[in-house]
Amino acid sequence: MTTDTEVEHNTTIKLKARAKINLTLDVLSRRENGYHDVEMLMQQINLYDNVTVTKNSTGEINLTCSDPFLPVDEKNIAYQAVKIMKELYQLEEGFDLHIDKQIPVAAGLAGGSTDAAAVIMAINQLCKLDLPVERLQEIGFKLGADVPFCFLEGCALAKGLGEILKPIRGFEHAWMVLVKPSFGVSTKDVYGGLDLDAIKHRPETSKMIKALEEQNKHVILSGLCNVLETVTLNLYPKVSEIKEKLNSYGAEGVLMSGSGPSVFGFFSSYERAKKAHKKLKKQYPQSYVVSTYNL
Ligand code: ATP
Repeated sequence: MTTDTEVEHNTTIKLKARAKINLTLDVLSRRENGYHDVEMLMQQINLYDNVTVTKNSTGEINLTCSDPFLPVDEKNIAYQAVKIMKELYQLEEGFDLHIDKQIPVAAGLAGGSTDAAAVIMAINQLCKLDLPVERLQEIGFKLGADVPFCFLEGCALAKGLGEILKPIRGFEHAWMVLVKPSFGVSTKDVYGGLDLDAIKHRPETSKMIKALEEQNKHVILSGLCNVLETVTLNLYPKVSEIKEKLNSYGAEGVLMSGSGPSVFGFFSSYERAKKAHKKLKKQYPQSYVVSTYNL
């Protein structure tokens, strides 16, 4: 996100808050408190919300959002991000936020998490707090397990609940069609429906990291794997239908992202992705041709 920061008069910052997909997602164990230990490869993509943060002298938090269905109060994670920064650093100034929402909501793309990370980063800069990225990630983790990743750019291996991160080489020059069906999915429900003992097919994460280091496209595409797919596919057969369509339109590798319901399919060229997108767009208006984003 840092490379896309635009600063105006030291009072306003505009950021591109990017979405992510999962190239792999494995769930290793369930903790006593109900949270899950994961191992996943997260990859940023070129689909983003435009987040604008302006410092004000009233001390208030004002949030506006292009999506009329999203809350603009404490229920919005971006609002929570301001609150936590104000409390932690006793900031007297207030902040006006605007989110131009492009990332589909409740889609498995970390849309809310990336907005929160953008806001924390903007406040760090606007208030000259000079906090290192590790501290920003720590603060972000209080808001959600996917937030720490969103401070990075490109691809990372995420462990723990998602907060133990190791940047790795991402999938480069990869074009995909991303499809979000009309319904959203609750991450909690999907994890709740997962039977750890029943998982038959798990990702080979180390093999995938090596393949990414070598940009071995064949191994990367055949290694795409998400253990949550079976749960979401059982709950929402529509997701299977989208996977089949992407395959039949020529995708070389297809996977659901996060807990879903978004599905992406990689294509061998922008033109091929565009062609498949043309067919899918009629039935699924929330479908996009996007590339992976790497430094
Ligand atoms: P993740 O992949 O991190 O689990 P997601 O992509 O599945 O996230 P979000 O788009 O972050 O899901 O939305 C999850 C819920 O959070 C929605 O029900 C939405 O109403 C709420 N929400 C709060 N703030 C935001 C925001 N800024 N953007 C999107 N959703 C938000």
